Amino acid sequence: MKLEDEIAELKEHLEIQKKLKNPGLLRAPETETGPLPEAPGKASAAGLESIRSALGDCTRCKLSSTRNRLVFGAGSPDAELMFVGEGPGADEDRQGIPFVGRAGQLLTRIIAAMGKTRNEVYIANIIKCRPPGNRNPENDEITACFPFLEQQIEVIRPRVVCALGKFAAQTMLGSDTPISRLRGRAHPFGDDCWLVPTFHPAYLLRNPAKKRETWDDIQLIMKLLNWEKPATNN
Ligand code: SF4
Repeated sequence: MKLEDEIAELKEHLEIQKKLKNPGLLRAPETETGPLPEAPGKASAAGLESIRSALGDCTRCKLSSTRNRLVFGAGSPDAELMFVGEGPGADEDRQGIPFVGRAGQLLTRIIAAMGKTRNEVYIANIIKCRPPGNRNPENDEITACFPFLEQQIEVIRPRVVCALGKFAAQTMLGSDTPISRLRGRAHPFGDDCWLVPTFHPAYLLRNPAKKRETWDDIQLIMKLLNWEKPATNN
């Protein structure tokens, strides 16, 4: 099936979801932070600052006792494309910036291969504090933290969210389907947004043969965004 046909079919599916009053993942979050900041038109830096301010020196889950730095997110508040990973690692925990370790450097190269810089996209994680020993986040931690990422998405209003790795993809889609079956296509995600899962850069460092499939996913994202096709696969 052609990409255009697949997109048309997915849009139709999204319309049916709307008619069934299925708000999808991006429901209006009711958290202790109160209502979303107003975001007239496209996203505003003020909206993100308001969410960051509401988080404060967050102690809403047990990860607060082991983290060094809370990693809120970084990039353009007007980004058309958001990358969402699992959670901060050791380098990110030290610097308070997402994706700055070896995996982050690979993500930076992927973004450069799209003809963009990190300042033109937005990068965040499902949870904002590093789990000890880089273990998987636990349910109570996701429950406490995920609403803030949802608010960031609501404010930024990206056209595409790229979920990096199994954990981010499964959490955002509410699915336990393996990443190998979730990736390779665009999933309707809220209003006027697509979610494209792909492999996590850390996984690519261990399995470089998977870069080819990741590059296919990146090209799909570029088609969805009408970004100019890159000349080479870096
Ligand atoms: S992981 Fe999220 S909810 Fe838990 S302490 Fe950090 S910012 Fe707060």
